[in-house]
Amino acid sequence: MTRLNGQRMDANVVVLGTDNVGKSALTVRFLTRRFIGEYGDIESLYTHNVVVDGREQTLNIWDAPYSQDLSFESLMCEKRVQWADGFVLVYSICDRASFNAVSRLIQTIKTTKDFLGLEKMPIVIVGNKRDLHHRRTVLSEEGRLLALSADCQFYEVSAAENYHSVLMVFHGLVDRIRESRVSVKKLAGIKGIVKSMSAVFARRRTDSL
Ligand code: GDP
Ligand code: MG
Repeated sequence: MTRLNGQRMDANVVVLGTDNVGKSALTVRFLTRRFIGEYGDIESLYTHNVVVDGREQTLNIWDAPYSQDLSFESLMCEKRVQWADGFVLVYSICDRASFNAVSRLIQTIKTTKDFLGLEKMPIVIVGNKRDLHHRRTVLSEEGRLLALSADCQFYEVSAAENYHSVLMVFHGLVDRIRESRVSVKKLAGIKGIVKSMSAVFARRRTDSL
């Protein structure tokens, strides 16, 4: 759910991807600037205040678990899409299956978004574990291409070694969420005009009968 109070913005972000790709590492790095190595697998919801481009924002971040059961996953997807203003989809550059899962998740999110009648759902794709380049199985170009074809943003990061790139991910998403709100507002404005114009024409038609 979105709230816009003057300059202040609240946004809900879901971090998703298969097990062991570094979802918790990425989230904790963003929240605390630290990398602690082991995170367990508890599902967590964090609230964090950030300043992006001079504007204060409250981010609610859901570090979500992944289910191998695809029908359960698509059921969960509806709940997540309803709650979310944006998604961070994470894979590991050393794990091809995790990359394929991100590709599937994009499809599920888009289908669910359309089903719910939502205009936009900003998504950032993150290829994590960039420091393990000797074990890389997914090329940067593949990530970039996926992002291009699905109209998402793309970053390759190392939650283990670099705070700045992780910061870019979340700031990038906040920017996209803000943009999407502006365009949704514009669209609502246009829809309003079309509605009132068709009301006028409908009236004219009945007047002339
Ligand atoms: P999650 O299951 O997706 O939440 O993954 P975790 O955040 O628990 O991370 C899984 C494992 O990958 C842990 O052992 C982390 O220390 C490790 N890890 C996470 N991010 C990185 C990274 O950028 N580089 C390296 N080398 N290891 C990472
Ligand atoms: Mg985790």
